[in-house]
Formats: sequence, C-alpha cells, structure tokens
Amino acid sequence: MRGIGNRDFPGTRLRTRPVASGWPKPHNRRVAETLWQQRIRRAETLAAQHPFAGQILGFYIHIARFQQDLYRHIERASASNSPERSAGVPPAVFHGKEPASRPLSGQQDAGATFPPELPELLSSFPRFLEIVEKQAPARLAQIARALSQSPSASWTDLLNNAWSAPDQPSEQPSDPSEFLALTFLQPYAEFIRSRVPLQLEGYTYSLCPFCSRKPALAVLRPLGEGARRNLLCGFCLCEWEFRRIVCPGCDEKDHAKLPVYTAAEFPYIRVECCDTCHTYIKSIDLSKNGLADPLVDELASVPLDLWAQDRGYAKLHPNLLAM
Ligand SMILES: [Zn+2]
Ligand SMILES: [Zn+2]
Repeated sequence: MRGIGNRDFPGTRLRTRPVASGWPKPHNRRVAETLWQQRIRRAETLAAQHPFAGQILGFYIHIARFQQDLYRHIERASASNSPERSAGVPPAVFHGKEPASRPLSGQQDAGATFPPELPELLSSFPRFLEIVEKQAPARLAQIARALSQSPSASWTDLLNNAWSAPDQPSEQPSDPSEFLALTFLQPYAEFIRSRVPLQLEGYTYSLCPFCSRKPALAVLRPLGEGARRNLLCGFCLCEWEFRRIVCPGCDEKDHAKLPVYTAAEFPYIRVECCDTCHTYIKSIDLSKNGLADPLVDELASVPLDLWAQDRGYAKLHPNLLAM
C-alpha cells in the first residue's frame, strides 16, 4: 500500500448505505478569496476537526501557499511574454471526443516539449524543494533533499517527464520524485488548462479531456433533486461529467459489482469501489456538504484510503501527495 498518511487511525467502520440527496448548505465565503485561499481555509478547518490528518493538511497548506505564489508568478510572466512566447498554450488538446494524449507535445517544435514559462518554473523549483524538505513527512522530505542536491539540468528532465501524460493510461507515476514534480507543476497545469477552451459536451470518457490522466476523485454536484457525478483531474483540475453507475476504471456498469461505502467520520464522502477491476475512487458529495473542497477533503479523508486498500482495492489514481 502506498501512502504517507497516519496509519494509526483507529479502525474506521464503513458500511454500505443508500445515498440520499439534499441541498447544499449555505455558506458565506468571501467573494474575493482566491481558490487557494479557500483551500487553505478549508484545510485549516479540517485539520482542527480531524487531528489524524493534521500533518498532511499542515503540509498541504504550505504547498497551497507556494502554488498560489507560483500561479501568480506564471500569470505575470505569461502576460509579459511576447506573442511568440505565449505559444505555451497547447494549440489543440481536444478535437471531438478523443482526449489529448500529451498536452504539450502538440507544439510544433518537437524539441521544445516544455513551454516558454520554463525559466520561471525552474527558478521557482528550489524554493519548492526547500518547503517540501522542511514541511513534508520524512519520506518526501528526503526525496526533496536529494533533488535539491542534484544538478539543476536534471530538473528539466524530471519536470518534462512529469508534464507529459503517460503513454498508457494505466501507467501511474511510480517514482516518488515524479509526484513532487507533479505537485510543483499543478498550478501551471491549471493555468494552461484554464486558457484552453475545452469542448466537454458529449465527452464520455473517464480520462481527463485535457491531460489524459485518470481522475483523482469524483464530485457529486446538486442537480435538481439529485446530484450529478463529475470526475476531477488532480493535475489540471479539469472537471467533466461522467455517468454515475459506471466504473471509471474499467467501464463496469453492473450495479451489483459497484459497491459504495461511507464512514461516520465523513458522511459526505463515498468510497466508490469496483469488484471487477478492484479499484476505488473517492466521491465528494457537495449536495450533502456544500462547504467541502473536493481536493482538500479528499486529502483529509485518508482513513478511507487505508480502509479501501486494506480490503484489496487500489486507488484509481493517487493524489498529488502520492496517497
Ligand atoms: Zn487533467
Ligand atoms: Zn472497474
């Protein structure tokens, strides 16, 4: 089992139960808050509620602050780039219903797999490694230390490899340094994806329509008297609709083979399992908890991962902290 969370959480009792729909609870978020500020506030709230997730959420807060700064940095750099340099946006990532296999390889210059913002990204990488070294759980901190001591030329390869979507969707990042690279690049992926008009209507695949990665989680959003299920890419944060009673791992449609579990600690998070391909994905039900932030609540609910993995289910796609 992979994971860097606290494994000593007392046994989480999960049980299947029918899922009722409801209305989101009202909330009073400040409009001017950036998405990162919202995520940070949510992480602070959850860390207070769930001490077992305190370490991972504390680490996440440092990462989110860094990501916010990097996003702004890239935004400024991109705005000051010449029109030629702004070719960092992939020219065509989604035509029709096929997902793009490699978002940046669509660039015409095959030798330039990385975008024009590469200098800005590389100059921010040491600061990122420093934060990870200081704030991450020991295993990740050790990897960050080793990376910070390796020649900076190797960082370009690492970031390039992480940026390129896997050739085969079944491929998962296996090298822990690749998870760090993905976490570092996440705001950049979000930035690039937000600048590309994606035609999501009629898109029925389970892979991210922008970067071809498997979804990191699912989100149930209120729709009429029920809720629709969307899948969410943990890298570029693209969200797209996907049928509710279908396994995003193997397309299984038999209800009996798709058990759903919830735990008392997280009544609004479903562990959606598949007894055919033995994978699971966590689904954040915003119709039950309108305050939840899918990314952050997914991180906080690490006992659900331990529970599912103890029962032989593998996570469809690990989150950016390799959990
Ligand atoms: Zn994506
Ligand atoms: Zn399946």
